[in-house]
Amino acid sequence: MPKNSPTPYLLLANIGQLLTLRGQGAPRRGLDLQEIGLIENAAVLCGGGKVLAAGSQRELLRDPWVRMNRKKVKELDCQGRVVIPGLIDCHTHPVFAEPRLVDFEKRISGAGYEEIAAAGGGIRSSVAVVRQSSRGELSKKVLMALNAMLEQGTSVVEAKSGYGLTLEDEIKSLEAIRDAARQWPGEVVPTLLAAHVVPQEYAGKADEYVKKVCDEMIPLVAKKKLAKYVDVFCDRGAFTQEQSEKVLATARKHGLGTRAHVCQFTSAKLKPLLEHQPASFDHMDCVQPEDISLLARGETVAVLLPGANYFLGYKEYPDARRLIEAGVPVALATDYNPGTSPTPSMPFVISLACTHMKMTPAEAIGAATINAACALRLQERKGSLEAGKDADMAVFDVKDYREIAYWFAWDRCAEMVVQGELWV
Ligand SMILES: [Zn+2]
Repeated sequence: MPKNSPTPYLLLANIGQLLTLRGQGAPRRGLDLQEIGLIENAAVLCGGGKVLAAGSQRELLRDPWVRMNRKKVKELDCQGRVVIPGLIDCHTHPVFAEPRLVDFEKRISGAGYEEIAAAGGGIRSSVAVVRQSSRGELSKKVLMALNAMLEQGTSVVEAKSGYGLTLEDEIKSLEAIRDAARQWPGEVVPTLLAAHVVPQEYAGKADEYVKKVCDEMIPLVAKKKLAKYVDVFCDRGAFTQEQSEKVLATARKHGLGTRAHVCQFTSAKLKPLLEHQPASFDHMDCVQPEDISLLARGETVAVLLPGANYFLGYKEYPDARRLIEAGVPVALATDYNPGTSPTPSMPFVISLACTHMKMTPAEAIGAATINAACALRLQERKGSLEAGKDADMAVFDVKDYREIAYWFAWDRCAEMVVQGELWV
């Protein structure tokens, strides 16, 4: 529930550091990713769910409208804390029912991700439980995750299906996302990931399964308006380049956006996939040098998911520095899922980006706000604090924005404002 009844105007006052991330409505590349639009001693005025003004408190309080209407405005005293745009988690898999503890222990004793998958663990073990679960049970799990994300500063979440893998169970998963989203104040972007893995009953018949995804699942999901994007897992052990292209081409034919899991374990040829205008390529651990310069010239955002590398115990992380320096737009996300990244925390991911991928705190926050908005093509409304944009903000109980990355695994998010409303 909101902390207060809807107020037409809300003023966030006495902000020690305001990170506006203002600027172009395009993804930040290269040195621009450092530009966080920092204003000290700042204030933000919200009205009708939007930012009306964001800037120096002295100037904002001198505004004639503010002086005339001060009594109509509810005030939140930020006490010198840091305010940033609501974090945007642009890659999650929240529709699952159980943690994967057997896989977790097997991995600790030395088994690899692909080895566990081959032994019937991995994604397929989550599939069995999701198929047995009701839509209501699943939507409760999704809502629980969304609430945990909100508490740690996230106000927009991309949420994928992908543990159903039948027409019925993928629809059920997307409906569970929709049901949960209706009870959550932030914005949820639903994605169909029927091409997550080849289900057991299609073992050795991957093309047949892809045909089912393209002929039945994508058309029905588009018709029911249950997803904005279609995703595909293009990697060894999942779908081939050719199968992935088929899925993405079908998505576009049905008016849906596209995105793809690529280059997590093996490198893919990105040029043919780019023909389908994906909003993002996600993981990007082993991207080819020639593809880096290709991405630097395009709009597709590279979404890096260091939570998965952390949880799988990898020594190697995606080469963020190389991508940023080449001019590729880079975003960050949790990859929240039961197998490889069971964390709802964007601040933890920001911290990992700094310590393991050598991104600066400023770059990591840019990658988790404005660039993540671009990865979901929401940059017109989300990802920065400027007049006219949605009033989504996270108040962190710190004095310096770099502390958001510094205090790892310590939830310092004190308040959330979503569409101009205060939430716990
Ligand atoms: Zn994923």
